[in-house]
Amino acid sequence: AAAPAAGYLAGLNPEQRLAVEATDGPVLVLAGAGTGKTRVLTTRIAHLIATNRAFPSQILSVTFTNKAAREMKERIAHLVGPVAEGMPWLGTFHSISAKLLRRHAELLGLRSDFTILDTDDQIRLMKQVIAAADIDEKRWPGRMLAGFIDSWKNRGLAPKDVPPGEAAVFANGKGGALYLAYQERLKTLNAVDFGDLLLHCLTLFRDNPDVLATYHERFRYILVDEYQDTNTAQYLWLRLLAQGRRNIACVGDDDQSIYGWRGAEVDNILRFEHDFPGATVVRLERNYRSTGHILATASKLIARNEGRLGKTLRTEDVEGEKVTITGAWDSQEEARLIGDEIESLQRNGHNLSEIAILVRISAQMREIEDRFVHLGLPYRVIGGPRFYERAEIRDAMAYLRCVVSPTDDLAFERIVNVPKRGLGDATIQILHNHARASQVSLLQSARMVVESDELKPKARTALRELVEAFGRWSARAEHMPQGELAELVLEESGYTEMWQKDRSADAAGRLENLKELVRSLDEFPDLPAFLEHVSLVMDADSGETAERVSIMTLHGAKGLEFDTVFLPGWEEGLFPNQRALDESGRAGLEEERRLAHVGLTRARKRLKLYFASNRRIHGLWQSSLPSRFIDELPEEHVEVVQAASNYSQGGYGASRFDRMESFGSSYNTPGWQRAQENKAKTGSGGGSGFSDSGGRGFGSGGFGGGRQRGPMLIEG
Ligand code: ATP
Ligand code: MG
Repeated sequence: AAAPAAGYLAGLNPEQRLAVEATDGPVLVLAGAGTGKTRVLTTRIAHLIATNRAFPSQILSVTFTNKAAREMKERIAHLVGPVAEGMPWLGTFHSISAKLLRRHAELLGLRSDFTILDTDDQIRLMKQVIAAADIDEKRWPGRMLAGFIDSWKNRGLAPKDVPPGEAAVFANGKGGALYLAYQERLKTLNAVDFGDLLLHCLTLFRDNPDVLATYHERFRYILVDEYQDTNTAQYLWLRLLAQGRRNIACVGDDDQSIYGWRGAEVDNILRFEHDFPGATVVRLERNYRSTGHILATASKLIARNEGRLGKTLRTEDVEGEKVTITGAWDSQEEARLIGDEIESLQRNGHNLSEIAILVRISAQMREIEDRFVHLGLPYRVIGGPRFYERAEIRDAMAYLRCVVSPTDDLAFERIVNVPKRGLGDATIQILHNHARASQVSLLQSARMVVESDELKPKARTALRELVEAFGRWSARAEHMPQGELAELVLEESGYTEMWQKDRSADAAGRLENLKELVRSLDEFPDLPAFLEHVSLVMDADSGETAERVSIMTLHGAKGLEFDTVFLPGWEEGLFPNQRALDESGRAGLEEERRLAHVGLTRARKRLKLYFASNRRIHGLWQSSLPSRFIDELPEEHVEVVQAASNYSQGGYGASRFDRMESFGSSYNTPGWQRAQENKAKTGSGGGSGFSDSGGRGFGSGGFGGGRQRGPMLIEG
C-alpha cells in the first residue's frame, strides 16, 4: 500500500515515519536528544488533521512549557496551514487542566471564575491556616507546609490519601489536618493553587465518569512531549484520559530526566508499557542535530550513569569542530573569555540568536550579563527575568536605596512590609497622609508616626524597629565596605531569613542570587556607584534588537537547539551541584549528569565548556576544582584551550589541567586579594557548595583508556 507520501512525511526516516503513521493504539517513542521526537509529534498532528482522523479540536497535546506549545503550533501551521490555529487543547499540563476545570468548576465546589493563587498568596494562606490551628508559625513555617503539600499534590494525593506517617512530619502529626483545612480555605475563597489544577482534574474524572466519558469521546488522540519529566499526578491524569481510546503517543528520553527534584518519575516510562500493553515502541537512533564530536562527547558522558534504559545514537553529520574546554582564572575572566569569543563569532558573520549560554544556577548570569552590557552585546534571559530584575534583587536594592537616599519613597514602600512585619495597607495609608501633610518622605513620616499613638502597638513597635534600623544602617554606610553593609542589612531586616525559611523550589536560587548581589557590590567604589551602574544596566536593554544571545538555565534549555552553546561553570560543587549531591547522593549525581547531557546536546555545531579556578559564590572566594564531568569526556573529541592569562602565568600544564594549582598560587588580582583579606578578617568560613578540599585528583587518568568504537557510532 505504498501510496505516495504526503509532503510533510517526505523528510522523515523510516522509524520516524512509523511513529507518525501508527495512529491508532499506544505509541512510545524512546529516543535520545536531537533524534526528532518533537518533530515526530508535530508531524503526527499534521498527519491526523490532513488524513481527517481528527479535527484540531479533538487532539490533546501536552508540552512542557508555553513557549514549546507556541513553537509547536507554528510548526504544525507550517505543515498543514492555518487550521493549526484552532488547536485549543495544545498546551502545558497546567494550562489544559485550568481550562478543563473552568468548564466543570461546580462539580468541585468552585465557581468557574476561580482564581489561581501564586506562591505568595499560597504561603499567606498557609500561615493563616497554621495560626488558626494554634500552631506556632515560627516553629512550623507556612513555607515548609507549602513544600509538603506541593509534593503530595505532585503525587496525586488528596488530603484523605496522604499516608498517616507522612502527614505526621509537620507540626507533630497535624500535617494532614492542616492540608485539609487549607483545601477548605481555598474552596471558600473560590481559589486553587498550582498543584490543585491537576489534582482537581483527577478528582473530577474519578468522581464523574460521565464527564470523563465525554472527554474520551472528544480527545481522539493524545500526544505528550518530554514524557520523562511527568510526575505521578500528570501520569494519572494522562492515564485517565487515554483509557477510552488508548490513542496515546508519548515521546521522551530517560537520559534527559531533570525534574526528579520536582517529583518527576522516570518510572513512568516503564509504567507506560505496563499500563498500555501492546504499545508500539519506536526507537530513533539518528541524531539530526549535532556534529560528530559533540554527539560523541555527550554520549560518552551519559554512559557513566547506571540507571539507564540504554540506547544507540549516531550522526551522519560531519565530525565538525572539537568540543573546547577552557580554564579561566576566575569567574570574571570566564565572562570575559565568553564575551570575546562571541564578539569574534559575530565578526565572522554568525547570528547572535544562534548562540546560547546555559548556566547551572541563575546567579551565574550576573557576571555574564554585566560583561555583555560592558561590551554592548545584545542578550536576552529566557525563562526568567534578567538578574537585576529578579524580585529578590529588587527587594534587596530597595533596602540599599533607602539607606543611600532616605527620601526614596518607592523603595521604602516596596520593602516596608517585606518580610511581613504587620505593616499592612492601613499603616501605609497613615504614613502617606502624614508625608503629604508635612511634605516629607515616607521614611521621615514613619519617624513621626512612631512617636504618636496613631498605630496599634504591634505595628508601632514593628515600624519603630524598622526606622531605627535604617538610622543604624545609614550611619554604618559611611565606613563599612558596601558588600558587608548589604549583608548586614539583609540579615538584620529579616530578609535573608525569609528566604531561608522558604521551602518552595526556587528559594535556594533566590538566596544564591542575593549572595551574588552582595558579592558584586565589592566591584564598585561605593554604594551610589553601584546603584548608578544598575540603572544603566536596566536601561541598556530598552531598544529592540532582533538578534540577541540567549542566556538561560540548563533546566530551561530542554528541547531547544542552537548552533553555538557556551557552558560556563563546570566546577565541582557548582556542577555537579553540591546541594544535589548532599540531598540525594548517587541519584543526585546522576540527575546532575543528565542535566550536563541536556546541556551538551543543545549544540548543533560548536560547544564550549568553561571552568574557573576561583569563584566567589555564597559571598566567599573559593578555589574550585574542574567538574568531574570534564574528566568524563572523551579525550579524542575535546580540545583544551589555553586562556591568554594562563599562558602569561606559565604554570599551566601543556594540555592538561593537572597543574592548575601550581599556576593558581602565583596569580593575584586586587579583588581576589581583598576578598581573601575580608575572609580572614570576618573569619566567616562555612558556606556550602564549594569545597577546596575535594580530594579528587583532577586530571589523574581522566582522559584516555576509553574503548574506541567507530567514530560515528556511540553506544550507550
Ligand atoms: P530533544 O530530545 O532535545 O527534545 P528531539 O528528539 O525532540 O530533541 P527535534 O528537536 O525534534 O529532536 O529534532 C532535532 C533537530 O533535527 C531539529 O532541527 C529537527 O528539525 C531535525 N530533524 C529531525 N528529524 C529530521 C529528519 N528526518 N530530517 C532532517 N532533519 C530532522
Ligand atoms: Mg524535543
